[in-house]
Amino acid sequence: MKQIPELFGSMVFNDHVMRQVLPKTVYKSLKRTMQEGTALESDVADVVAACMKDWAVSKGATHFTHWFQPMTGITAEKHDSFITPDGNGNVLMDFSGKELVKGEPDASSFPSGGLRATFEARGYTAWDPTSYAFIKDDTLFIPTAFCSYTGQILDKKTPLLRSMDAVSKEAVRTLKLFGKAVKRVTATIGPEQEYFLIDMKDYAKRDDIKLTGRTLFGAPSPKGQEKEDHYFGSIRPRVKAFMAELDEELWKLGIPSKTEHNEVAPCQHEMAPVFETANIATDANQLTMEVMKQVAERHGFACLLHEKPFEGINGSGKHNNWSLSTDEGENLLDPGKTPSENAQFILFLTAIIKAVDDYQDLLRLSVASAGNDHRLGANEAPPAILSIFVGDELEEVINSIIESRTAKSGGRNKIELGMVLPRLPQDNSDRNRTSPFAFTGNKFEFRMLGSSFNIACTNTILNTAVAESLRLFNDELEGAEDFSKALHSLIRRELTEHRRILFNGNGYSKEWEEEAERRGLLNYKKTPDALVHYTDEKNIKLFRIHGIYTAEELKSREEILIDEYQKQIHLEATTMLEMLNKDIVPACISYSNKLAKGIAMKKGIGIDADAELRLCREISSSVSTLLDKVETLASDVKETPEDVYEAARFSADMIIPAMEEARSVADHLETIVDKKEWPMPTYTDILFYC
Ligand code: ADP
Ligand code: MG
Repeated sequence: MKQIPELFGSMVFNDHVMRQVLPKTVYKSLKRTMQEGTALESDVADVVAACMKDWAVSKGATHFTHWFQPMTGITAEKHDSFITPDGNGNVLMDFSGKELVKGEPDASSFPSGGLRATFEARGYTAWDPTSYAFIKDDTLFIPTAFCSYTGQILDKKTPLLRSMDAVSKEAVRTLKLFGKAVKRVTATIGPEQEYFLIDMKDYAKRDDIKLTGRTLFGAPSPKGQEKEDHYFGSIRPRVKAFMAELDEELWKLGIPSKTEHNEVAPCQHEMAPVFETANIATDANQLTMEVMKQVAERHGFACLLHEKPFEGINGSGKHNNWSLSTDEGENLLDPGKTPSENAQFILFLTAIIKAVDDYQDLLRLSVASAGNDHRLGANEAPPAILSIFVGDELEEVINSIIESRTAKSGGRNKIELGMVLPRLPQDNSDRNRTSPFAFTGNKFEFRMLGSSFNIACTNTILNTAVAESLRLFNDELEGAEDFSKALHSLIRRELTEHRRILFNGNGYSKEWEEEAERRGLLNYKKTPDALVHYTDEKNIKLFRIHGIYTAEELKSREEILIDEYQKQIHLEATTMLEMLNKDIVPACISYSNKLAKGIAMKKGIGIDADAELRLCREISSSVSTLLDKVETLASDVKETPEDVYEAARFSADMIIPAMEEARSVADHLETIVDKKEWPMPTYTDILFYC
């Protein structure tokens, strides 16, 4: 391997490269576009494109693609080569400013939730110069936003960029109240990515994993994760080799992969990068997921990003570490050391607490999917109820503000009463793994995201909700005669109002569910329960105020996500039926036939065949029960309503329970049928591969 600093970002058209290859004036105007969002002049774009192409070709690129993030959640790309015939039978390598700035993929096959009538199916992609172009698989990738021809947004990136502007605008206003003249505040994100690696040979034999991402069958292995010997355990050499190559590939793409370790479940691992600005972290996370899959294949593995590949052991999530940082490098969630810094910190903290409480529904629905429904509330991931963990010390500070008294020190650092607010303990490293939204010292960690999610949606919501709290605070404080007094009373009032969202206890407990209900917190257990609230009046208003989505765009998103949910369940149900009818039932029958033959033979020579008879009877009767379940499931699938909302409801209430019933009989059969006859690798085979 090359020296890491040399390798890092070597496939990225980053600032360093731009400085080297662009003429000075062009570099300056491009920088202005990147920082201030001004349009790029067409002659400047031509020069940038030509330089970018020369650089890409020198690195072996032959094609370019506008890379975007449609509502499917995965990224999309269409590759065009640089070649242009020169009229004399030869070709030139060409790339114009126009091709760089705008693309027109045929958009008709991407989900639009009714936004785009087919007669105007065109959409276009527009270069997002705030995210660097890069080379992957001999192709120059240009990060872009994706819109319909009439300007409606069709992707996940555009709203994220808008939400970053919204939160920046309001945070800049807030900081002005504290005498700070910053130009921009940026949302920063470090997404920790969990995944499973299984042997490709097992993957190839499991239609359920191949088609749906998870096992639809599988009796538990005698060994699960109860011995807790995998978390942070020593890494298998084969996995280690995968991780080394993954790091190398990510580093080339300028993705700062930092930490790799084993996770709780067997075969489960995690990768965490160093945090970056929200849009770059989003692009990087999408790329990370793709690169993981590719590198895994090269090592004879399949990388599973599904939220719950195996029943009975932990599934995979994505921890979204989030903070706000000024262009001068101040982290606004760092409590600070002086009383006035504390006051500013407490105001931002209050804004976040209010945002999470007011928009619990949006945060919950941003993590809703068929896959994540298996995790949330399953005693391994946060519950489906939003709450915030701030740690005992910070909670004591909050309570002291609400109750207008001096905070207790808690036996650690002394808490001094400052001008306005008490001084905070500096090391708030308390952890609570059961909390969905935890303060971890100088950032919040949102833990409800599923491992396969695009993080854009959650962060769009988080940024926008916090922008809204800040907007209301700014409106009130800007007009105040006595700032300190107004600040104190605002903080006290808002903390009192939103105290209910704070919870430091065990989020997995039954008591919390009941307590949360008493507090009036929302508990949307399943995806369809949550998604329909996207278009609640208050949410439409929020996004309209901050210029993120129109009501129409929001409705389209809701429909797309609901449709995606019911399609996923439909796919799982039909895959299950196929595996039952073609693999599992025939295998069981064939085994019981074998037993029956043996019984007949034994009886023929007068030997008692009681054991075989019992087993044969049990298998036959279980198969018969299984066929009843198959029938029910098949008829449910047929009866699924046309309307996507009704179909989603029906999937949650009818199809999923029918699938669970069929699975439990099939899993029982797996435990009594000869392993040699079982038509697919078992949990033990897959999870404890050599
Ligand atoms: P863990 O939560 O597993 O203990 P760390 O706290 O070290 O791990 O960090 C987890 C993630 O949080 C990393 O991706 C890290 O880069 C990110 N992170 C740290 N500071 C910030 C910040 N200010 N904004 C956003 N993410 C951050
Ligand atoms: Mg963490």
